Amino acid sequence: LPAEFIAAAPVLEQIEAAGYEAYFVGGCVRDTLLGKPLHDIDIATSAYPSEIKAIFKKTVDTGIEHGTVMILDHGQGYETTTFRTESGYQDYRRPDEVTFVRSIAEDLKRRDFTINALAMNPRGEVIDLFDGMTDLNAGIIRAVGDANERFNEDALRMMRAVRFASQLNFTIDPATIDGLRQNAPLLSKIAVERIQVEFEKLMLGQQPVPALQLMDQTGLLMAAPVLAAIAPGLKQLMTVSTWPLTTPATVWTVVAVTNGWDHQQINTELKSWKLSNDLIKLVQAQRTYYQAAMTGTVDAMVSFAASEVIIRGASAVAQLLGHSFDETSALQQYRDLPIHNQRELAVNGGQLIQAGLQPGPALGQALKQLLTAVVTGELANETTQLIQAATADEEN
Ligand code: ATP
Ligand code: MG
Repeated sequence: LPAEFIAAAPVLEQIEAAGYEAYFVGGCVRDTLLGKPLHDIDIATSAYPSEIKAIFKKTVDTGIEHGTVMILDHGQGYETTTFRTESGYQDYRRPDEVTFVRSIAEDLKRRDFTINALAMNPRGEVIDLFDGMTDLNAGIIRAVGDANERFNEDALRMMRAVRFASQLNFTIDPATIDGLRQNAPLLSKIAVERIQVEFEKLMLGQQPVPALQLMDQTGLLMAAPVLAAIAPGLKQLMTVSTWPLTTPATVWTVVAVTNGWDHQQINTELKSWKLSNDLIKLVQAQRTYYQAAMTGTVDAMVSFAASEVIIRGASAVAQLLGHSFDETSALQQYRDLPIHNQRELAVNGGQLIQAGLQPGPALGQALKQLLTAVVTGELANETTQLIQAATADEEN
């Protein structure tokens, strides 16, 4: 058992000692059986939230209406969720009703894929009601029960299917693919934020190319407006042979570049994907640097506007798209700059005013000129010299 399970086992045992069942469930069991690192632990229990709170001294109601209570144990928080069934799904996403149940079987039945419907008790014994172990060993994503029904209930599961295929380098079972085909249009009902999370995980997974091809073949690629908007660029990616992307920013820079977006389009399109302003800014910077690199116009000022992260990102994009890019010398050019940001300039506005310049737009202009001169190596980054240069300009 992984260290995280060993650490959490006493919590599960305490629930058992009180007369209830408790299991590790979902992604953490799957990843444990695959020997992958865990990022979170989910615990499912037959105890109702009030019963969990009676067993443990310290708990936090993190989602009590859905049955989730966090148990605080030795400075660690463990999310436990009462076994539940779901019904309704009027909006193709959220169930209308969540019902707590005492049977683990009912809880596992509502889960999306067989590999995600495994449970493990604190002694490491696996509960496998849907042959999830067989699928895990064979590398198959298979819906629990009827794929068509399960995707109709919750259309997000379709994005999860292709995301897991990419992340785990698994194939999707034919009946499940058929379910994707039949229900693809329902993806338009899903919130952009949810699609975005799955799409990024797909693009940062082990095998994005076949997953994108599958999205294309099943109609998922054109199902949601945000996806349809980037489909032309994604189609170009379906033929690449290396995949050096490791960060969300590079994913979106590739999307921007392959779709031929300009600065304005990047803003509009990525806002429609509900990306954060910080991420959009980074994409803009990477794309700007990338364009300059591709046209051989990376001068000192372009380099100054970049950063090591931006250069590495632009390099990954170039590599993916089969363009040559000398990352080492690009990074060297950046490191060799006399200064790397405005704060490192040896003079500031206050000092220029003391030296006799008037506050206002002209002052900003003067500072900018000094910055350019220092970055390009025309002037040394030396306070007296810079003040001298600024006051001499003033007199001319
Ligand atoms: P990740 O490694 O990305 O966290 P995960 O499988 O743990 O993958 P979560 O979103 O954390 O995914 O969900 C935990 C578990 O809850 C899943 O393994 C699955 O059993 C169940 N689950 C999550 N989303 C759905 C869904 N849309 N429909 C059915 N079951 C779901
Ligand atoms: Mg998880």
